Amino acid sequence: MTAYDPNFARPHGRLLGWLGLGSRQAAKQPNSNDSACEPERRSSLQQRQVGDIGAFLGIHKLPVSAQTLLIGWNYLTGADNQVVRTIDRQLQQRLPLTAEWLEEALGGSNADDITQLAELMKRLESSIDEFAKTSHDAHSATSQYHSALEQHVGELEQVTKAGEVISELATIAKVMMRRTRDIEKQMLRSEAQTRALRRRLDEARRSAEEDHLTGLPNRRAFEVLFEESYRAARASAEVICVAFCDIDHFKKINDTHGHEAGDRVLKLVADSLALISNDSCHVARHGGEEFVMLFCGQKLEEALAKLDALREALAERRLVNRANDQPFGQVTFSAGIADVFACGDPRTALRAADTALYRAKLNGRNRIELATKEDCAPPQLDAAA
Ligand code: GH3
Ligand code: MG
Ligand code: MG
Repeated sequence: MTAYDPNFARPHGRLLGWLGLGSRQAAKQPNSNDSACEPERRSSLQQRQVGDIGAFLGIHKLPVSAQTLLIGWNYLTGADNQVVRTIDRQLQQRLPLTAEWLEEALGGSNADDITQLAELMKRLESSIDEFAKTSHDAHSATSQYHSALEQHVGELEQVTKAGEVISELATIAKVMMRRTRDIEKQMLRSEAQTRALRRRLDEARRSAEEDHLTGLPNRRAFEVLFEESYRAARASAEVICVAFCDIDHFKKINDTHGHEAGDRVLKLVADSLALISNDSCHVARHGGEEFVMLFCGQKLEEALAKLDALREALAERRLVNRANDQPFGQVTFSAGIADVFACGDPRTALRAADTALYRAKLNGRNRIELATKEDCAPPQLDAAA
């Protein structure tokens, strides 16, 4: 049952400090005081904090996904007032928190969310790694301690004649051995739980970054990749180009052959574009029937030639709807391509590539246009607006 649980209070600032994303104020919470944070305490604090997010998702029966993790974090730390207010209102009315409701009430991600999410995932991962290591070390230490104790107890039992004190000592040592054995078992369980948590986190990350229809990276993943590639290209003074591609008259394919057939065409175009993807060429689905491509370390002319070869190869194919053998006819795409540094920054370059794509549509489709200097200019503000 999903219910408002007044006992489930938000641990102000604790998680925030742990994730290293908090304000200075949050970092001054007693539990995040560096000098008081010995490895064992930090490990148990981390367990509790991972547990806080887990409990939040568990209580409300929410799936573990990048989005619910982010919402859980924003709610528990109070990092996002809107999230806190919206969720509190829902809980106070004793209404359920469902994934659908969260999506509707809190909407999709904006650029800041995307950056924060990537940061959160990184920090969660490194915290889990740290916890796994601490847990593993503690397990080894406990195991060694247990063996040492076992040996001493054996020696003590051999000299029981020396008096009752020794016998008492042996009894105490046996109790300690039982305890260390229990701790060892707990540690083993913790290690298994950590491995499972990491697997779930990996799955959530994959699912958050992948477009399910085409298997390509989605827009969120692309934006992060674009930002990272841009910074790397700037540091190494390399060229980087971005292209915006859009399938021509795709609506007609849906209208004539149905949405499912449209999906298959989309997947086929995605596969065709992905043919040239490698370490220096990245393809992603931006949304709908639009794709984006990044060409790292390739001049505009080189990138254009590669993309144009793909366009030509696709346009030459004659696709058939395998459900009923009806021809799809010629499937083509149009594109606009821009040199990122000539435009200034990733956002401007993407907009310029989109403007060039629009021109390719106007000029007859099934073609690629280069972004011009004017396409890179800041958008004109409407004086009447
Ligand atoms: P243009 O050449 O000007 O780009 O024309 P178009 O018909 O391709 O463009 P328009 O924007 O009019 O239509 C795009 C269509 O793509 C409408 C939408 O239903 C369809 N679409 C978007 N996403 C998907 C999807 O995931 N699967 C299917 N089958 N269709 C989709
Ligand atoms: Mg479109
Ligand atoms: Mg289109």
